[in-house]
Amino acid sequence: MDKDKKKLIFHAIYWIIGLAFIFGLPHLLLHLQTEEIPYGKFKDLVKEGRILEINLEQTEIKGLVYKGPASDLDSVKEKVKKISSTPDNSGISFFEAQRPPTFQEILQSLTSQGVKQGQVALFRTVRVEDPKLVELLDQQGVDYSGVRESFLGQFLLGTIVPILFWIGLWFLIMRATGRPGAGLLSIGKSKAKVAMEKDTGFRFDDVAGCEEAKDELAEVVEFLKAPMKYEALGAKIPKGVLLLGPPGTGKTLLAKALAGEAGVPFYSISGSEFVEMFVGVGAARVRDLFSQAKQNAPCIIFIDEIDAIGKFRSTGMIAGGHEEREQTLNQLLVEMDGFEPNIGVILLAATNRPEVLDPALLRPGRFDRQVVLDAPDAKGREAILKVHSKGKPLGPDANLKDIAMRTPGFSGADLANVMNEAALLAARERSSQIDQAHLETAVEKVLAGPERKSRRLGDKERKRVAYHESGHALVAFYCPNALPVSKISIIPRGRAALGYTLQLPEEERFLITKGEILDKICVSLGGRAAEAELLGEISSGAQNDLEMATEMAKSMVCRFGMSEKIGPYAISKETSQYLRQQFAPQQIEALGPELASEVDEEVRRILAEQDARANEIIRGHREALKRVADRLLTQEIMSAEEFHAIIEDKK
Ligand code: ADP
Ligand code: MG
Ligand code: ZN
Repeated sequence: MDKDKKKLIFHAIYWIIGLAFIFGLPHLLLHLQTEEIPYGKFKDLVKEGRILEINLEQTEIKGLVYKGPASDLDSVKEKVKKISSTPDNSGISFFEAQRPPTFQEILQSLTSQGVKQGQVALFRTVRVEDPKLVELLDQQGVDYSGVRESFLGQFLLGTIVPILFWIGLWFLIMRATGRPGAGLLSIGKSKAKVAMEKDTGFRFDDVAGCEEAKDELAEVVEFLKAPMKYEALGAKIPKGVLLLGPPGTGKTLLAKALAGEAGVPFYSISGSEFVEMFVGVGAARVRDLFSQAKQNAPCIIFIDEIDAIGKFRSTGMIAGGHEEREQTLNQLLVEMDGFEPNIGVILLAATNRPEVLDPALLRPGRFDRQVVLDAPDAKGREAILKVHSKGKPLGPDANLKDIAMRTPGFSGADLANVMNEAALLAARERSSQIDQAHLETAVEKVLAGPERKSRRLGDKERKRVAYHESGHALVAFYCPNALPVSKISIIPRGRAALGYTLQLPEEERFLITKGEILDKICVSLGGRAAEAELLGEISSGAQNDLEMATEMAKSMVCRFGMSEKIGPYAISKETSQYLRQQFAPQQIEALGPELASEVDEEVRRILAEQDARANEIIRGHREALKRVADRLLTQEIMSAEEFHAIIEDKK
């Protein structure tokens, strides 16, 4: 909760307490002074002539009762009549200029006219259905219409105070939960939502493995530190910088580090927050965000996950949210065009889906500079691991370079996770330092999910899993272009995997050849082949393997031009522009029926050929497969060395 919010809440509380005090207190005092009497007693008092005045309310009768000696009764009655027939002109407002006096005022007047205190008192009683009462009152000459509650008081108590109370309560709840629309009272004031940080606490040193991106942003830092210098030279500084990259590569982190380096305020808001707002609020918020930032220049505005508002405008006619997003986006464009580049406000945005961004955002004068953060390479991964090992004592055998080699495709966030998992493991083992073994186990955990030792398989299923995994490993061993096996395990992991075979590259790879893909497909089908050969039938356990194999075969035919029949023809385009995602989902262009069936045939041919090959390898090495599986059943985990020893045993 920030200061503004607190102030507001205190304000509201003071107001409510103050109003309750002013209007509630007299009421409360009156209530305490009033004596409650039974209806029967009240009637007796009427008959005795001791009731001076009453006010008939819906459920209650209130009034003045005479308690003094009977001798003075008549003179007091006389005085009361006189007082209540003179309208009071001292009313506190024009509402009340001409009204009869209240009971309290009568009491006061009586005291000032020499009637002893306590002789006349306030009373109340329950109003009972009693048609004869009015008759009785007339008989006794009791004035039952002359006194009313103060109109203003009633109005305030009955109407204004409850309204204020509910508004106050609603206001407080909304403020406290920070829900969208918290603000009907403050529409367009983004104070509550926009987080402003004076110092984000991050520096460029905290971001590793993306030197090019940091170099590009260093210029922006220079500008924010000394805008005058640039202005004097007439240099144009980019208004907007867009950070692109897959999730977890440090976009948010880099934005914070940029602000930290420049030492300027950092206004951040996430695109998804805009989307959940009421119609019209998003646009107002953008306006307010910019006006706040301009007042505090130099500063940085950071819009995280901008794809949530910057989606290409004509796509996806989703009811509702669509309109709102468009308004917000338009406002953003207007604001971006509206500020001078040299006032010292830099707009930073991040997205992992640049392909869905509205092209209008990328036009010159808007996000005209784009900085790509790709998944880090081996050197970058080592640097990131180093950053995250700060404050964590590493053992002498811990080899971050080796760990970096084992983690191709890991993002910065994954690596941070590895370091943390390793530290947790070391702590669990009461070790005083993090050893290589801890790091290796942590890599596996991040890669395949945590081990689930509690998931106990029956003997039959364990056997099947052992054959299946041994099948993958064996086929990998006999495929010349497959990655070497580095570990086999039949301990269930994560949500789905019952076992797994880990294959690691010996060096960083950026390309993949036709032979390598074919071998990969063959290895994927190896698990199935082993099940079929040794157990006589296959199971559903190979579902994921099949999906992967199919995806790879499709990529060969449709993207890499690796099918002779189809030829060098790029049928599908990558939908993701990141280099490292080799088998990213693809978008297949509309094909004629003939070509479509040819593609189908080719994909199936590739899969069938590799399936046959996997089966052949398994059949040819049945004994070795059995030995590996048996050992796996007893010890659950097998290292690369053990695996090789068992296979070569009889070779
Ligand atoms: P993104 O915004 O790109 O999805 P984040 O910036 O939120 O990724 O990264 C999440 C976390 O991962 C960071 O807080 C940081 O601990 C770690 N991380 C990611 N990339 C890097 C990097 N290049 N260097 C150091 N740590 C990183
Ligand atoms: Mg992020
Ligand atoms: Zn498998």
